[in-house]
Amino acid sequence: MDYTALAELLFPNVTETPEEVHARFPKRNVPEGAVVTRMAPSPTGFVHLGNLVQGMISERMAHQSGGVLFLRVEDTDAKREVPGAVEVLINSLRHYNINFDEGATIEGDNGAYGPYRQRQRASIYHVFAKKLVSEGKAYPCFCTEEELTAMREQQEANKENFGYYGKYAIWRDKSIEEIKAQLDAGNPWVLRFRSEGSISNQFKFDDLVKGKLTITENDVDNVLLKSDGIPTYHFAHAIDDELMHTTHVVRGDEWLPSLPFHIQLFKALGFKLPKYVHIGPLMKMDGNSKRKLSKRKDPELALTYYKGEGFPVQAMREYLMTVLNSNFEDWRRANPDADIESFKFSPKKLNPAGSLFDYAKLVDVSKNVISRMDAETVYTLLLQWAEEFDADFAKLLSADADYAKQILAIGRGGKKPRKDLATWQEAKPYMGFFYDELLSAPEFTFDAALVKTVLEKYLASFDAADDSGTWFNKVKAITEEIGFTTDMKAYKQNPDAFPGTVADVSTMLRQAITGKTNSPDLYTVTRILGFDRTVERVKNVIASL
Ligand code: GLU
Repeated sequence: MDYTALAELLFPNVTETPEEVHARFPKRNVPEGAVVTRMAPSPTGFVHLGNLVQGMISERMAHQSGGVLFLRVEDTDAKREVPGAVEVLINSLRHYNINFDEGATIEGDNGAYGPYRQRQRASIYHVFAKKLVSEGKAYPCFCTEEELTAMREQQEANKENFGYYGKYAIWRDKSIEEIKAQLDAGNPWVLRFRSEGSISNQFKFDDLVKGKLTITENDVDNVLLKSDGIPTYHFAHAIDDELMHTTHVVRGDEWLPSLPFHIQLFKALGFKLPKYVHIGPLMKMDGNSKRKLSKRKDPELALTYYKGEGFPVQAMREYLMTVLNSNFEDWRRANPDADIESFKFSPKKLNPAGSLFDYAKLVDVSKNVISRMDAETVYTLLLQWAEEFDADFAKLLSADADYAKQILAIGRGGKKPRKDLATWQEAKPYMGFFYDELLSAPEFTFDAALVKTVLEKYLASFDAADDSGTWFNKVKAITEEIGFTTDMKAYKQNPDAFPGTVADVSTMLRQAITGKTNSPDLYTVTRILGFDRTVERVKNVIASL
């Protein structure tokens, strides 16, 4: 067979040579040993936690080594593409601080190795497709859908491996005349790789996460170009990662079964194989067993979920790092205030079998992260969240920023900050009572007449000038005046001996002022509310009794 003639027949319009293409993508100017890596998501409209994990790993590996992280949009599967998905993708990754040095952006391409959207690279793939054909390493296949289905059914019936190989690879050795006849008839074709591999051969391979693997050669003549001339993931991966000078491919381990084919393909094209970092899936406990997080069953797989709940970006990153590198928590304890980026991330510490995602732990980490923020930061982030997810609350927060910041400053600073919030969504139930619009009516457990007496006494003695000690002494005095006890020890020993305690009186006051039985320190609350507003609230409650 004259492969050069076949290549001309299939790709008459391709005039550029692989050397010329290579010359358009010169070697990168990065330090020795720097990692050049990419995120290469498909724009399906669904951005999930796994994307963020992959983004963080790639970002750390690139930037820790002085290398480059770029974004390539793998849009070769037009059927799966959803309008606006690229924007959703880019915005979500940006929200989580995955900053790309180059690649696809909403405005277009940024960088010298583009285009960064695969459908726009069709002519590049064709240059290499033509080269493979001219070397006898690829050939056209005119099988129809029906023929391929019949092949699969036969393989199923014979209990054979699936795929286009051996006797099933019917177009592998057809003559140029047979091929020409099909082309002349206008029949659609795909370009297939001519595999020289055999499943009786195995070889060793080193993956940066999975370690030493024993791999069986691929014997299937897989598709390189689909009938519309658009490449499959496999072919595009080899060509793009070669031309974009990717040193490390960080991707989900669902690609591991395709690795033997990828290795073959790089070799056939004369490309240097990048290093591979195959990351395991995110798992969760379901009863007593672990399973992969599933798009259908687990809303917490979607990144939008965390944004909606209001987990701060910093908390998500912090939590995921604890999942990815087991030494991160020790490091964090030793360096509580250090920037997460000064932690030395290592792909070698990833769990090869996948990481366990634990929602309760995320909540815990998030509480810690928020407790370490200053009031100004909390206010900014909370307001940002509320503007998107709770416009009414956002209005209240921004109407008097200083008031909101005073509230958010409660219990901050110091060695043991309060840990009231894990998400921004929890802020309204926590602090809403500070706003008259969100104040709810109290439900007292004591007799209305008694509550009224307590509140009246409180009003009579309430003084804006009191410090917290004086304020509390007055609460104690009221307690004794109504025959309740301030001696909590005695009460605990013999509760039946007392009608109530100072804690009950405090709760009555707390309910009258906040509408709730739980709140931050009541004295502090009254200081922030101010004298007039506190008095007014107590008066309103008295009037309602
Ligand atoms: N488009 C592929 C995916 O979304 C990319 C895999 C890779 O990073 O090479 O799974």
